[in-house]
Amino acid sequence: MAPDAAGPLVVQKYGGSSVADAGRITHVASRIAERAAGGERIVAVVSAMGDTTDRLIGLAHEITSAPRPREMDMLFSTGEAVSSTLLSMALHELGRDAISLSGMQAGIRTDAVFGRARIADIETARIERELAAGRIVIVAGFQGASDDFDITTLGRGGSDTTAVALAAALRADRCEIYTDVAGIYTADPRICPEARPLRDIGYEEMLELAATGARVMHARAVEVGALYGVRILVASSFESDAPGTLIHEESTMEQADKVRGIAHEQAIAKITVRGVPDRPGIAAQLFTPLAEAGVSVDTIVQNASIENLTDMTFTVERGDADEALRVTEALLPQIEASEVVADADLGSVSIVGTGMSTSPGFAARMFRTLFEHGINIELISTSEIRITCIVREAQVGDAVRALHDAFDLDRE
Ligand code: ADP
Ligand code: ASP
Ligand code: MG
Repeated sequence: MAPDAAGPLVVQKYGGSSVADAGRITHVASRIAERAAGGERIVAVVSAMGDTTDRLIGLAHEITSAPRPREMDMLFSTGEAVSSTLLSMALHELGRDAISLSGMQAGIRTDAVFGRARIADIETARIERELAAGRIVIVAGFQGASDDFDITTLGRGGSDTTAVALAAALRADRCEIYTDVAGIYTADPRICPEARPLRDIGYEEMLELAATGARVMHARAVEVGALYGVRILVASSFESDAPGTLIHEESTMEQADKVRGIAHEQAIAKITVRGVPDRPGIAAQLFTPLAEAGVSVDTIVQNASIENLTDMTFTVERGDADEALRVTEALLPQIEASEVVADADLGSVSIVGTGMSTSPGFAARMFRTLFEHGINIELISTSEIRITCIVREAQVGDAVRALHDAFDLDRE
């Protein structure tokens, strides 16, 4: 039976744990088949099965410590090739017509920045043709192709972005992200048992949460959603009765005076360059070579100078710490700084809420709560609607739970 050619168009995405084994793939196929039987036209984006992408990274590193990014992207793309073809076959088993497409076949064109490519545009003709022929379309997530037909990937967690970008390009009626939790929670439910699912959340708050560690949504997927006005439902592929969370344009005129959620990150390293002469151009001299080495720098703090000498501190992902240290140490003679020290056992905790920009007192309450729990703050950074504290990695869980309690997030 072919779905109604004019039925609503739905883009769904199933993450790694939702397609972790053959049984899960068959379960997802039956969910899709049921929706298609109800008359909806379905494009389903899939991630690689379970921890496949991590295993592929491990394999590459058994061969070389410095795999070339182009080869890594070719390798990564095999993960989603497996899950998308198996899901298509599972639909065939259920008597549905389905076809799997690689990112390139789905028309996803990107720049050539391997490992973190950005989508330039999506040529939707092929997908539309398959839908018009009554097929369910399964698209391999997180991949695209450059103008030279090289396979690229969008960065870890990028299948969310594939789905939201496809929903925008196809002007889909719905965009649904299915994962292993029942939506966006007030904090990661795996480390904060008191966390509760939100009914809805604005793009702006979701973007801050995603950018500061709430890995349930890829930050760039939220950006694309905001840009094209795609309303995104995040829900569980395991429980079918939970309503999930809608990410959309916030509609309340006055923002509630409340923290909306807490995000955390682990494996952060802090690099401090001591005794830096306080003269114009020093920051450029330091951060340009880091950028050229592909090190992405997060928080940067420059201390007030004493006798014309200052300390410059910045954070990077722990995986980039050695490279950051190497680049910075090599610059010491040139910038005439005295030494570099690194601390690689850090994490972060962030509180996010649009109400913060207009109400004072959030920072004071955050700092007091951390102090009362014996948690030292190593660095602080803020945006209009977020406060982030860098703390010892071992204390991140305690920090999240303490702040969840202090800001009453367990209550509606
Ligand atoms: P998928 O494989 O479906 O893309 P991810 O592992 O990328 O799933 O994201 C889902 C995970 O995100 C959850 O299992 C949860 O541990 C984590 N997470 C972190 N912060 C949050 C949050 N605020 N709400 C829900 N889940 C969160
Ligand atoms: N498989 C990729 C990853 O693990 C992309 C994704 O799952 O979104 O990062
Ligand atoms: Mg994910």
